[in-house]
Amino acid sequence: MQPSPRLLPFLALLGMLGLPAAARAANPIITDAFTADPAPLVVGDTVYLYAGQDEAPNDRHAGYVMNRWLCYSTKDMKTWKPEGTPLTPAAFKWARGDAWASQVIERNGKFYWYAAVEHDQSHRGKAIGVAVSDSPTGPFVDARGSALVTNDMTTATKISWDDIDPSVWIDDDGQAWLFWGNQKCYYAKLKANMTELDSPISVIPDEQLHAFTEAPWIHKRGKLYYLSYATGFPEKLAYSTATKITGPWTPQGLLSEGAFNSNTIHQGIITFKGVDYFFYHTGGMQHNSKVGGGSSFRRAVCVDYLHYNRDGTIQRVQLTSEGTDLPPAKSRR
Ligand code: CA
Repeated sequence: MQPSPRLLPFLALLGMLGLPAAARAANPIITDAFTADPAPLVVGDTVYLYAGQDEAPNDRHAGYVMNRWLCYSTKDMKTWKPEGTPLTPAAFKWARGDAWASQVIERNGKFYWYAAVEHDQSHRGKAIGVAVSDSPTGPFVDARGSALVTNDMTTATKISWDDIDPSVWIDDDGQAWLFWGNQKCYYAKLKANMTELDSPISVIPDEQLHAFTEAPWIHKRGKLYYLSYATGFPEKLAYSTATKITGPWTPQGLLSEGAFNSNTIHQGIITFKGVDYFFYHTGGMQHNSKVGGGSSFRRAVCVDYLHYNRDGTIQRVQLTSEGTDLPPAKSRR
């Protein structure tokens, strides 16, 4: 993609400084490692980004190799500071591995990290654990000593990987909710301690979602609840809205097209300093002679602006290389 004319003076300046212009492209925002399944968290004047690290070899058939989660932080949505590895699946003694999608949320000064991992033989299949820390950058420790959700607790589908992709939301009344799933989208209340379910597990009816695949992300704006998720395969993103967090949900169509060079896409949505952002991953990491390039198993986290319409619907997100180098267009609020 050609840089936009307004960036040319800036790129020329970088050239004079001896910096490679490509390294300053806004997307992907993380280039020191392959990263996937972004989960952003706003804490005061800082955004923390949590992502799984893709460690697959440069082989298009490698499959997922994910042994740790990484954290990054920013105060300006342009400069990302590596915050290391606050959590690995080894923190969960009952887990065999697989640092799959996760999300971190703050409650009463503590940070709770919900993570999908592979359970050991006692509850075969994927499971969701919760880790806790006093700091968004860790260290995090297993908050329970056991999984919060195991495969046998949900049976709407027979697959062993339906208990993945946790997303949490604390509603205005203080009630916390956990959403997750693959093929079926599940949800349940969380107790105030954030480490135990506080209701039976419900399943969102298929017709309330647009061909749900996985990657639910729950958020609220004004009085409207938004449930965004991956649809179809290769995945695109769709969303549904509701006036109650328990639904019924109304499908609102596509939120974005699929990710470049990746058969999955996984979104995280935040508002930071009055601007709405859409995090996702692609397989678009540029080739480099040391490690090769991106793929479905070597993903890279990106961010673009998200815009709401006046009626609360969301404009189709444009996935761009320029990302936050572009000026944010105004939402119709
Ligand atoms: Ca299950």
